[in-house]
Amino acid sequence: MTDQVTERIRREPPRFREVTVDRVEWLSGRMVAVTFAGPDLKGLSVDEPAASVRLLLPSSGESELIVPRWDGNQFLLPGSERPLLRTFTPRRLDSQVPALDLWIVVHGEEGASGWAQAAAPGDPAAISGTGRGYAVDRRAPGYLLAGDETAIPAMSQLLEEIPDRVPVRALIEVGGADGRFTITDHPRAEIAWLESAEGATPGNALVRAVEGVDLADGTLVWAAGEAAAMQRIRRHLFEERALSRRQAVVRGYWKHGRAGGD
Ligand SMILES: Cc1cc2nc3c(=O)[nH]c(=O)nc-3n(C[C@H](O)[C@H](O)[C@H](O)COP(=O)(O)OP(=O)(O)OC[C@H]3O[C@@H](n4cnc5c(N)ncnc54)[C@H](O)[C@@H]3O)c2cc1C
Repeated sequence: MTDQVTERIRREPPRFREVTVDRVEWLSGRMVAVTFAGPDLKGLSVDEPAASVRLLLPSSGESELIVPRWDGNQFLLPGSERPLLRTFTPRRLDSQVPALDLWIVVHGEEGASGWAQAAAPGDPAAISGTGRGYAVDRRAPGYLLAGDETAIPAMSQLLEEIPDRVPVRALIEVGGADGRFTITDHPRAEIAWLESAEGATPGNALVRAVEGVDLADGTLVWAAGEAAAMQRIRRHLFEERALSRRQAVVRGYWKHGRAGGD
């Protein structure tokens, strides 16, 4: 009974804005930048770094985009199938064109990852958003940013937003050497690229690096990546290091072994 009540009161997410792929660029062997454009993007706004949008794609094996309907609890396609709908960071919005860049990690043949590998100008998609981001504290004495490949777009935005005088340590776990690429410059940022070993649990290298890092008093932390790894990082920061809740934001971006729409 309670579940039914909860289902009925879920607020419908922002509408879908229909777009097409305008440009595709490989940033590394594991990351594709896709630029989406279309007049329907007019009015979309991104006010904070590390925000989110939802990307609707044609279902696997289809080329046509079908916009799902909201059933009061979730989006469903005709026949009650779940749409291919995934969350990404709005990396760059050009409201003049208007156009939106997403950076999509290529990790397998299915879902958004499989779609991104084959994306080409003219392909249809839709964007819904924007979800809340993170407000950088410009008076912070220092920042620690920690994330896996899915967090690179958000971390790039945070590096752009953190004042030049603030020291930043950025720890980034990638799936292989071909996952590295040049990200935004920050004069006081020290960036460490951590390569996860073949077959290793995702986020292991990142957790170990966070556990070993020196944190000066008052340093603020932003971390995002695989959910179980983020749980370990949360425990380490809040229990072992006794950081206050306002000092660290730790977000699970995906779950190992579970598709994003689940
Ligand atoms: C707020 C927010 C912002 C995000 N921003 C970005 C972004 O800018 N760029 C980005 O690429 N992702 C981002 N993500 C993560 C992204 O939503 C998930 O990785 C999503 O599952 C990808 O969908 P998919 O269809 O490719 O794979 P799915 O169909 O969701 O998953 C299929 C399988 O692949 C695994 N999987 C999913 N992601 C990965 C991965 N990165 N590496 C290895 N295995 C994986 C799953 O565990 C599952 O077993 C963000 C997530 C959140 C919540």
